[in-house]
Order: sequence, then structure tokens, then C-alpha cells
Amino acid sequence: MNIAILSRGEALYSTKSLLNAGQARNHNIEVLDPSYCNLAMENGKAVLYFENELVDDLHAIIPRIGASNTFYGTNVVRHFEAMGVFSVVSSDGISHSRDKWTCFQIMTKNQIPVPKTVFASFFEFEEQLKTFNGKPIIIKLLEGTHGEGVILSESPQNALATIETLNAAGVKFILQEYIEEAHGTDIRAIVVDGVVVAAMRRICKDGDFRSNLHRGGSSEIIQLSSAEEKIAIKAAKAIGLGFCGVDILQSKNGPLVLEINSTPGLEGIENTSGINVSKSVIGFIERSRKK
Ligand code: ADP
Repeated sequence: MNIAILSRGEALYSTKSLLNAGQARNHNIEVLDPSYCNLAMENGKAVLYFENELVDDLHAIIPRIGASNTFYGTNVVRHFEAMGVFSVVSSDGISHSRDKWTCFQIMTKNQIPVPKTVFASFFEFEEQLKTFNGKPIIIKLLEGTHGEGVILSESPQNALATIETLNAAGVKFILQEYIEEAHGTDIRAIVVDGVVVAAMRRICKDGDFRSNLHRGGSSEIIQLSSAEEKIAIKAAKAIGLGFCGVDILQSKNGPLVLEINSTPGLEGIENTSGINVSKSVIGFIERSRKK
């Protein structure tokens, strides 16, 4: 099959891993930088050029759209969809997962448990804060990544000052209950084609509460409970991502979905679990051809 990985970083671990997995199955697989894809409508049809060359022979794409390129990147994916090219993640799924509030709305609509979360509305800060009963809260930028833009606020006074500052800076954010019993850990489950193919526990470094590996966190292999596995699969389906990372917090009331990542990094999960996630992604593409 002819497969393209939409990525700006040919040298990145994840891109190389996907490339190797495709080549190992004898596919014609290449990396296209979405920034160099030119999109057009010609004679009522969606057409796409890569550096002035018409791209019309692809069977499937694996989008690896970075957070800094969401708008154009999702446009490129939507264009491929209009051309009838199979994508392991939908353009809508990418856009929806990028906005934390939209993601929580979709989860809740599909009866998937999430932490208590409030969309900060300009006039009601103090009232909204009261609903957290004076407990520590998490304040999160709507479109932050890698744990940047996530603040733990221990007191209502501190929370109010932080919120007012963010508001004055014109930033959009959400307020969320702090799941203290997770003890700075979360679960990253990788879902491919409706199946959890690999999972790990991420543990924050000393003195932090954010377990992101980018923030110096560590990871270990874990066996998911059936409840954790079920919500990971349900979350991926609800948001429309055939390949994604679902982050789960273990709360005293059971697993809660924290976030869904449409471009999960593969280095941490493949090294921690010893599982070749990329091979599963290629298998997913091969099955799509047979449908
Ligand atoms: P990002 O998209 O920037 O990674 P997350 O919402 O995933 O933002 O938060 C980063 C990390 O902070 C999570 O992996 C988790 O360890 C911690 N965290 C986030 N929200 C909560 C919460 N409500 N309760 C406890 N820990 C949290």
C-alpha cells in the first residue's frame, strides 16, 4: 500500500518507528510535511500537491499533527478525507481532542467519567471557586500540552489571583478538581482500532504533580483493570480517533479520562512496554483496505 506519515519531523522517534513498521510490511511508506501540502478544489474535487507534485496515489495517511500546527494540519487531514484516503485519525477527532473543554463535553455526552470540570466564565469566578469547597484545584489552559499550562492551586485565594491574572492576559482556561489520590501518576493507554495495544503508568518527578514524561516523569508497565480498558476504548471511539493515547487518572471513584492525545509519542510507550505500537497502526491500515 502507499502510505504517508504526515509529520514535520522525519528524525523523530515516532515517525521513524512508524516508517520502519511500514517498511517491514513492504509498504511504500513516506513522510510528508503537512506544511508543504498545498490544498485545492479543482473541477469540484479536492486535490493536493506536495511541493507542486500532485499526490493522488495514497491509500492511507498517519497524521502526526503537532500542537503548533493544528489549524493547517487538520485542514490537510480533512482534504485527504475528502479525497477518499483512509486516515487512522479523523480531522474532527484531532480538532476536538486539542481543546480540553470540547474533549470533556464529548466524553460526558458519551457517559465517560471525567473529573469535575468548570469552564471559567468571566463574571462568576468566585461563585465557581466555591463549588470546589475550598479544596485544591487544577487550573488548565484550554490548549496546553506537555503539562505546560497546568497549575495546581492549593488555596481559594491563590486560585482567585491566578484566575484573575489569566483572565487579564486574555487566556481561556478551565477549573478542575484535583485528584489527590492519583499521587502524581496517571495511565497512558494506547488505543488502536478499538483495542488497547499498550499501556503504562507515568509517575511525576519529585516535587511535581504532573506525570508528563516531558516534565521529567518516569514510567512503568501496568496491567489495566477492565474498567480502565473499557473507558480507554470508549473514549477513543467517542472522539473519533482510530489511533490515540488516552490518559486516565485513578480516582477513589474509579478511572477518569483526563485527556486524549491524537499524536501520542511512541518512544516512551514502546520502550516501557516493549510493544511495537507502530506495527499495530500498520495492521489497522491493512485491515481498513480489506473492508
Ligand atoms: P497536558 O495536556 O498539558 O499534558 P494534562 O491535563 O494531561 O495536560 O495534565 C498534565 C498532568 O498533570 C497529568 O498527566 C496529570 O499527571 C496531572 N493532572 C492534570 N489534571 C489533574 C487533576 N485534575 N488531578 C490530578 N492531577 C492532574
